[in-house]
Amino acid sequence: MSSPAVRHELPVLSLGFADVDAPPRLDFAPVSAFFASVGTGVAVEPVWLGQVRLPKRIAFYAQNGGMGRPPQNSQAVAEEAVHAVGTEARALLSERLLLVAPPPFWPHTWRLLRGGVHLGERKFCVRYSIVPSGATVGAVSHELGHLLFDWPDWDRDTGVKEECLMGTGGYRHDGADPVAPCAPLLMSAGLARAFELDARTPLGDLAPGVVATFVYRGRSLLFEWRHDIERLVAYQLGPSPLESRLALRIRTTEKDAVRPVLALAADSLFRIAQHDLERDISDCVSLPRRGTS
Ligand SMILES: [Zn+2]
Repeated sequence: MSSPAVRHELPVLSLGFADVDAPPRLDFAPVSAFFASVGTGVAVEPVWLGQVRLPKRIAFYAQNGGMGRPPQNSQAVAEEAVHAVGTEARALLSERLLLVAPPPFWPHTWRLLRGGVHLGERKFCVRYSIVPSGATVGAVSHELGHLLFDWPDWDRDTGVKEECLMGTGGYRHDGADPVAPCAPLLMSAGLARAFELDARTPLGDLAPGVVATFVYRGRSLLFEWRHDIERLVAYQLGPSPLESRLALRIRTTEKDAVRPVLALAADSLFRIAQHDLERDISDCVSLPRRGTS
């Protein structure tokens, strides 16, 4: 296998509190393995900084899973934790930080208050993920999607849900088996190579980390073949990849590798065309839509 296109060294800090001292656990190996398989490959290497113990009781900070109002939230935790790190470990800190906390913290990724903590020489720690002890590979990978790539959560309007790490797909099988980030996210992070589809392009050409574009009735579509969910998926690209919407998803098997992508997608593309037609008509003559009696 070729070496990954993108490499991240990620400082990881464990947290203790006045009343909770047991070191929280995090098995990072499955997270590294997951990111190695993402698009053209991402190497995420943890830099373990050990544990710091904060002087207050955990309940002070853990309102609403740490998502309460400052100073009783994870932003205060992150700030105090960075200040509490010893000189040697401090030299290993950087812009982004992963915190591993005892429960009841919930996984989330936020910014430090007031622009971050100054680390010296124009270096600041500005953003952190916090995950609870024993967090699943899906939960950690979803948060690292926010932390390392600034990927957003996909919301309801986009139609993207179980197709993506940053939708509900990160929590497949209770987070034990997350799905990959979807093609628009790979594109936004430079983690996929794109080419233009033609009528004969077989599905098998859409290998992991390879996506294809196609313009259909003025829409720019982005196709990917997802082995993890056994689907051919296409997105309608927005002004930026992060403003894309789900356009079609079709069940596939390995036998489909030799079939042309556009033949597989023909029915769905026809439905998109029908939708355009109905919309065009209703735009012109405000008739009630079919099927809304
Ligand atoms: Zn999220």
